[in-house]
This record gives sequence, structure tokens and C-alpha cells, in this order.
Amino acid sequence: MEKPEPNHASLHNLINKQSLLLLAGITIYQRGAHYQQLGAVLDLCNHQHNLTATVAGSDYKEYQVQLWNAEGKLASACSCPMGQKSVPCKHVVAAGLAWLHQQDKSQPGRWG
Ligand SMILES: [Zn+2]
Repeated sequence: MEKPEPNHASLHNLINKQSLLLLAGITIYQRGAHYQQLGAVLDLCNHQHNLTATVAGSDYKEYQVQLWNAEGKLASACSCPMGQKSVPCKHVVAAGLAWLHQQDKSQPGRWG
């Protein structure tokens, strides 16, 4: 368990617009993109092996979102009703896009 897994290092490579689109589907993706533009992602936390965020929902609730690398595939969780059923939701997309946005600003060019 102590051995570093190469897969873990690639979480950040897994998060991109295309992977979020594939994960959530076009309808949810577009809702998530709208959320991100509205500034619904309140708190983005970049851990070594996962990404967590707090996203404000349309009903003024705050949801906890998590994205991680599941053996080379992007996996997500959210505390909203959809997320509880393991369905990727707009909060997940918003969090992923907010993270991408942050990378764009802080490290131009590094990710591509
Ligand atoms: Zn959600």
C-alpha cells in the first residue's frame, strides 16, 4: 500500500473538458458549465490524489463534490440526491471546470 501508484499522479491529466463531458453527458455538462460561470464553486481544494469542492446548488444548499482517479478513469461523487445514486451531476462538472479554470490562470501552458 505504500508504493506510489503511477495512476494516482495522473488525476490532473484525467480532468479536462472532454472527460467531464463523457462522464456527465452533454445536458449535465452544460448545466455544470453554467454553474461554474455563475461562480457556484465556492471552495476548491486540490489534494494529492483527489480534488474536493463545495458547490452551491440552485436551492441554496451547498454540496460536497469529490473527483478522483479510479484506476485511470475519472470518478466522481457528490452529496446531492443525484450524486447519492452515483450519477454524475452538474456540481461535479462545475467543480472540474473551476479547477481547469484555476490551472489556466495560475500556470499558463503547463497542461497543454
Ligand atoms: Zn451534485
